[in-house]
Amino acid sequence: MTDRRDALAGNLAKVEERITAACVAAGRKREEVTLIVVTKTYPASDVRILSELGVRHVAENRDQDAAPKAAACSDLPLAWHFVGQLQTNKVRSVVGYADVVQSVDRSRLVTTLSKEAVRAGREVGCLIQVALDAGESARGERGGVAPGGVEELADLVAGSPGLRLDGLMTVAPLTGEYAGRQQAAFERLMDLSTHLRRAHPTANMVSAGMSADLEQAVAAGATHVRVGTAVLGVRPRLG
Ligand SMILES: *Cc1c(COP(=O)(O)O)cnc(C)c1O
Repeated sequence: MTDRRDALAGNLAKVEERITAACVAAGRKREEVTLIVVTKTYPASDVRILSELGVRHVAENRDQDAAPKAAACSDLPLAWHFVGQLQTNKVRSVVGYADVVQSVDRSRLVTTLSKEAVRAGREVGCLIQVALDAGESARGERGGVAPGGVEELADLVAGSPGLRLDGLMTVAPLTGEYAGRQQAAFERLMDLSTHLRRAHPTANMVSAGMSADLEQAVAAGATHVRVGTAVLGVRPRLG
């Protein structure tokens, strides 16, 4: 396992350098940006190594993979983020291990999350996933609510027992007006965050940026970047 450890340590150091350089370029402090390592498709043994290397936040996008992995790593000091499209029939399981659900995008999901969080006696952090490729009121291809639906959903989360409104998340769109314009997309998310924080001052998380575009996210003001490939390698299958 030491080869894997060396590889992950090397990749992590490179990502750390990129985040630091992006912070310097943007005149931001390094502490303003939290690295979340997206461990989807990789085994619990990698999560354990990452934890030993100092990673404190990991993310998964499929409950079937995440639930056993989180159970195998329950002794580690990690925060688990759920970043995938979430079906309501998976919510009970997800609430069992997720500290933050970043993909909240419809009212029925909020209602179910609230019910299950209360049932489990847990407080679950929620990010509203914003679809910047949708029309003003539609839903995105890869999940997410259009900008026009953010406020209503945020108010619903904030008023739901067992849930904590933490902020906003997006994935840079591949289609629509923001295709190929990651920084503009992330700046739009920041504008929505500024607006959201007027009504919900503590909802200050802005989750944006992946392996390919973390610099643009940091430049725009993201507080959390979600990095998979650049730390763990190219995924063996789509996920
Ligand atoms: C997979 C995934 C990431 C990480 O993507 P990489 O390109 O591997 O860094 C980030 N966010 C979400 C929502 C993902 O599904």
